[in-house]
Amino acid sequence: YFDYGAISKQTSVHRTSPKHSTDHIGSVKSTTDYIFGDIIGDGSFSKVKRATDKRSWKEYAVKVLDKRYIVKENKVKYVNIERDSMMRLNGFPGIARLFHTFQDDLKLYYVLEYAPNGELLQYIKKYRFLNEASVQFYAAEILSSIEFMHSCGIIHRDLKPENILFDHNMHIKITDFGTAKILPPKYAECPESTTFPSSFVGTAEYVAPELLSKQAVSKSSDIWAFACVVYQMIVGSPPFHGRDPGIIFRKIMNLEYDLPKLLPAEIVPLFNCIFRLQTSDRPSIQELKHFSFFKGISWKDLFFQSPPPLQ
Ligand code: ATP
Repeated sequence: YFDYGAISKQTSVHRTSPKHSTDHIGSVKSTTDYIFGDIIGDGSFSKVKRATDKRSWKEYAVKVLDKRYIVKENKVKYVNIERDSMMRLNGFPGIARLFHTFQDDLKLYYVLEYAPNGELLQYIKKYRFLNEASVQFYAAEILSSIEFMHSCGIIHRDLKPENILFDHNMHIKITDFGTAKILPPKYAECPESTTFPSSFVGTAEYVAPELLSKQAVSKSSDIWAFACVVYQMIVGSPPFHGRDPGIIFRKIMNLEYDLPKLLPAEIVPLFNCIFRLQTSDRPSIQELKHFSFFKGISWKDLFFQSPPPLQ
């Protein structure tokens, strides 16, 4: 099932990102190369541990997956998608980098770039909502990361504040590509509105209506989730929420969301344009970048800028 070895140098596709250590990309690794530390994350079929490379003393987050459980739960396809999509995206600063994959008899190991400053969700919970400068800056980082994913033919399908981590400079690192859709090469350049058949994956609050009505996904389904995350950064809770998934899905299909009076005026068109049932009615990423909400953002060097303080 699992054909896991070293990641070759050719998988790094983004060439203008900040310098990354590529010291041992391409070399074969195993558990003996690392000192494993505490558990920093608990997924549904994985544990994420902090680990230090014995030679370089660099810290990594190592995702450890139990092979027997993955086979039993029919998740082989998903762990391979996670590896393959991360390899395609390796090198873009807004996406957690995958340095190595290897396995032993019982487990698979993904050696990931370590994002020590936690998840976006924890900051929204801590501060209840984020200030306008932070929302604008992080919305821009998320949007340009989505733009890069889409240009590589990857639809994330589960964007949410839990999957947006922060590195030591408080720049974002998007993670959790286990439910991504990898488009065939001829569709990588397709318009954002093009839909593809999709099984139900994702998280109720962030799911786009096309998945509910047509079991279809498009690049613009990530734009829908992006708008939900931006809304949550400003308001404190996602736009479509409720006691159970049935209530949430009904609200999504009815486009039932509140626009609190205190919302900054420039953000309102972003929600009104994205929360549309038809994928073709939603703006493209290029169009979104020109919304007045993003006025003043310097898109080219976002990941080299100092993020505004969250508090
Ligand atoms: P889920 O079942 O929630 O989808 P999962 O099995 O796909 O989880 P991840 O979401 O990739 O696992 O990771 C679980 C948690 O581990 C994350 O929410 C995060 O807190 C932590 N984590 C994952 N990757 C990193 C990283 N590169 N650096 C720091 N922490 C990480």
